[in-house]
Formats: sequence, structure tokens, C-alpha cells
Amino acid sequence: MRDTLEKLRVSALGELGAAGSAAELESLRVRYLGKKGEITAILRQMGSLDAAERPAIGSLANSVRTDIENAVASRSGALDAASLADRLLRERVDVTAPGKLAAIGRRHPMSIVLDEAREIFISMGFTVAEGPEVELSLYDFDKLNIPPNHTVREWSDTFYITEDESVHLRCQTSPVQVRYMEAHRPPVRIISPGRVYRKDEADASHTPMFHQIEGLVVDRGITLGDLKGTLDALLRRLYGSDTKTRFRPHHFPFTEPSCEVDVRCATCGGAGCHVCKGEGWLELLGAGMVHPKVLAGVGIDPDEYSGFAFGVGVERMTMLRYGIDDARLLYENDLRFLRQFM
Ligand SMILES: [Zn+2]
Repeated sequence: MRDTLEKLRVSALGELGAAGSAAELESLRVRYLGKKGEITAILRQMGSLDAAERPAIGSLANSVRTDIENAVASRSGALDAASLADRLLRERVDVTAPGKLAAIGRRHPMSIVLDEAREIFISMGFTVAEGPEVELSLYDFDKLNIPPNHTVREWSDTFYITEDESVHLRCQTSPVQVRYMEAHRPPVRIISPGRVYRKDEADASHTPMFHQIEGLVVDRGITLGDLKGTLDALLRRLYGSDTKTRFRPHHFPFTEPSCEVDVRCATCGGAGCHVCKGEGWLELLGAGMVHPKVLAGVGIDPDEYSGFAFGVGVERMTMLRYGIDDARLLYENDLRFLRQFM
């Protein structure tokens, strides 16, 4: 029995020392120390011993039990420490590591200019109106006084949706003006920014889809002077307070009289250079007094009311603002180009 106890001590201490997990340790503890464990089983046999031997064997059994208990406690402490160290390693945060810079996008240069123009107009009392990009020819052509034989109605100029030419991708944002005037009585004071489509080959100054902002003011007593004042205010705020403008007579079907507006070339100050092709001026927008037929067509009496309208290309405004010499740069999404704008 003495040998059995000694062997038990050796094997138990060996196994406990090698226990790799808390669960394994607990099953060993039960095996050696539990009520049905090996120590208990040996102690039950004490009754068969000589009375003289019992104290020595009892003392040995207690010492083996104590050793095993100590080994369990010690292994348990070691396993806890290892598990804590492992967890600390896994959940480590290196507070000295450099931060990761989030990739933040920027506004496209056209968005910057469009937002500014929108703010300027809103500060002058305009509201923003929008309309469909797939438009009825009735609104984009007929109600704008564009004659049936006008070149803009050609299939080579316009993206028609239907064979009968009644629906197409709008060529301008002007139909929004017609829709707005049909739904609202004067005074009218709106801008309508948006995409427009024309069958142009893409080159340095044309793209088949581009952006416009149109403006419309209709009220009693509106004159060409109001138009000039409004556009001067817009262009000085966009391009600087010393910006010079020039109004040239022109022809549009939907305005009478009509004009084109040029801005003094900022690159050469008007002396003439390659940007303005020696002219000293850059053509920017078209404008005029709303044609009486357009007003009458939406039920506004042209004898009582008058109005002005203008349309400006956002690409053109942006190119002038930043000295960009090719419209295609605005659509190529080259990050080296786009990152120059804040
Ligand atoms: Zn110039």
C-alpha cells in the first residue's frame, strides 16, 4: 500500500504538471481527489491493515493528498496566468502606432462652381426648380417658340427617344421654365440647374452631355437693365469684383431681344492671348427678354408682364474660373486633376 501511494504521487504530479487546460486539470483533480477518486479508494482499504501500520499509512496518504492539492492549485495558477498573457497579446492595441488617414473625397470643380452660383442666386431671392431630363418636344421646342424647321430639331443634333420626335433627352434646361410658369403665376424668380444633351463630338469645348444653369424672372416692369444687373452681380461674385462684362446682340427663338454675354479674359486682362484667341473676351452665356409668344403660351399676358431669361454652361463657368483649357478634363476622373480642387 505504501508503494501504491508513492506511485500514485509520482504519476499524479507528472500528469498535473502537464495539464494543458483548466478542463483537463479539473478532470485530473476529480480522478485523484474526488469522492470516487483514487486516494479515497486507497483510504477505504485502511480497514484491512494492521492497527500498527495505520498511522504511518494514514500520514503518508495525507501527505500525498496535500501534494496533489498543491500541484492542482499551482498548475491552475500557471494556466490562468498563461491564459491572461495570451489574451493580452491577442487584444493588444499599439497606442504608439501612427493613425490611418481616411481617404476623404473632394467636391468636383463643377460642383464647387455650381454650389457657389446656386448660393449667389438664392441670396438674390431665386428659388431652385428642376424638371425631367427625358422631355417632351412640346416643352423643349414648341412652347419655347423654336420653329419646326430649326436645326436643333434635327436627328443629327438631338437624342430622340421616340420615332415620332415627341420625346427626347432635353437639349437645354429651358423646358423647366415653361413647366414652372404653367404651374405658378408671376412674380417668378427661379434658377434651374441640370444635365442637358446634344449630339456633339467630344472635343476641347464640347461634350455630348453637359450642365446648364438657367434663370428666369417674370414680373411687372422687368427690363433688360434688370437682366444686366443680375448677370453682372453673378459674374463679379464668381470671378472677382473687377470683372468686366460685355453684352452683344444675338438671336434666340425664345427671347427678344437676345444677347450673348462675354467676360473680359482674366489671363491677359483684355490684351489678347491664346486662351481668348486674341479677342480679349471669352463668350460665357446667352440671355434675353422672354419672347412674348412664350409668355402667352403659358397663359401669362405679355402686355402686363415681362421677364428675362439666361442660360449658362456650368462646364464653361468652371473652365473660366480655374483656367481649364479642355472640357474633357472635367469628365476623365483623373485623380491628379481632381485633387487640385478643394
Ligand atoms: Zn486673353
